[in-house]
Amino acid sequence: MSQQVRVRFAPSPTGYLHVGGARTALFNWLYARKTGGKFILRIEDTDVERSTQEAVDGLLRDMKWLGLTWDEGPEVDGPHGPYFQSQRLEIYKKYAEKLLQNGSAYPCFCSEEELEAKRQKAEEEHRSLHYDGTCRNLGKEEVEKRIAAGEPYVVRVRVPDKDYVLNDLVRGRVEWKSETLGDFIILRSSGMPVYNFCVVVDDADMQISHVVRAEEHLTNTHRQLIIYEALGITPPTFAHASLILGEDKTKLSKRHGATSVGQYALDGFLPEAMINFLALLGWNEGNDREIYSVEELKECFTLERISKSPGVFDHAKLTWMNGQHLRALSVENLLPMVEPVLKKEMPDEPRLQNPEILRKLVELIQIKMNKLNDAVEVAKSFLNASQPENEEAAAMISTDKSKDLFAALAEEFASCEWVREGYNAAIKAAGKTAGAKGKELFMPIRVKITGTCHGPDLVGILDVLGREEVLKRLRN
Ligand code: GLU
Repeated sequence: MSQQVRVRFAPSPTGYLHVGGARTALFNWLYARKTGGKFILRIEDTDVERSTQEAVDGLLRDMKWLGLTWDEGPEVDGPHGPYFQSQRLEIYKKYAEKLLQNGSAYPCFCSEEELEAKRQKAEEEHRSLHYDGTCRNLGKEEVEKRIAAGEPYVVRVRVPDKDYVLNDLVRGRVEWKSETLGDFIILRSSGMPVYNFCVVVDDADMQISHVVRAEEHLTNTHRQLIIYEALGITPPTFAHASLILGEDKTKLSKRHGATSVGQYALDGFLPEAMINFLALLGWNEGNDREIYSVEELKECFTLERISKSPGVFDHAKLTWMNGQHLRALSVENLLPMVEPVLKKEMPDEPRLQNPEILRKLVELIQIKMNKLNDAVEVAKSFLNASQPENEEAAAMISTDKSKDLFAALAEEFASCEWVREGYNAAIKAAGKTAGAKGKELFMPIRVKITGTCHGPDLVGILDVLGREEVLKRLRN
């Protein structure tokens, strides 16, 4: 019987959504969307000291911005809730009880001081530092008596004396030797469950079929397999994706630039470009294709092609990719994204208030943009009249020939029809009068009107600036 794919993203809300976390979420989401399965968002907030509501809000906001919609989780009810670990304590207790009943876990009454003394002694005698099993075989009666007397205790898993093997979809065969682990705690004396226990209980209870997460969790998997076995539950399939590195091949950190998804949203990146970029950080289709739409990724994605070697977070590449996605947008789609950016930075710019001119402006600057925020600089480069940007530019507009050209052009522009064909004819006619053609014709006009030797299409600039403003700049 083929099992329904149920995958999850399980962030701890102790900070912002990191690009590494977003990639984990994305791999899970893509797999669910590809297979018609379910994508579950679970908030792992049992660390009450470090978890915050602000972090939860930020996580949900950034997930929504990326378009990583979840089928079960916060704000979306489902049959396996609640989806906040802090609201699931009763469930963990129930499962711990089950382990106590079947004998694969036991209460341990050793105090912190006793444990510390044991550890020190073991260290001096060069013995294993694992729990020595003092409470492993206490009689039922003694246990009941001590609990009834109110003695504090933790619950430990009885770790079987055997090796564990995982067939990881990415890493292949992973093996843990029996001696690497002693009986470990699953419930603290306060009754609070430990992280590895919660993860297993939740993954089992939520019927997770595949656990796709970062390599750094691989060490937890050993304990988790032991807990699954103790519960008599078949573990899910695991896929541990490699770490993401900075360009200097060390673990990605703030030193390498922004690492939060929210920051990229603020910096004018498009969610679809972010998705494209993150998907290729440690996954590929088996070729060197680089540009994918979200829909295309949903079709091609497979867990088997998650790469064993780490992905390198290359900012320049992300920017390039964003430009590719941005330029592929229709003006209709781009306009509502660029409009608020422009209006925020240039609240008094009258041309932005005219819908027709605004549309022409967006059309004009699109090919010069890599990020939404670039719109401001590109637009300002010609919306604001400015002095020549350098000596070369200044020289270009101070020759006699160029002065003749500007005078002739002003005359032509004053009377031509103010449409593209009109400007083109006027420029041609003025060039003839002044004896200028080619570069000698277009460059000085561009510099005279915008101050710079580069920028978007000149004819488009004329369109946006309007006759009056162009004449003013030519006659200046
Ligand atoms: N809560 C863990 C984290 O944020 C993830 C646990 C898991 O994916 O198994 O790193």
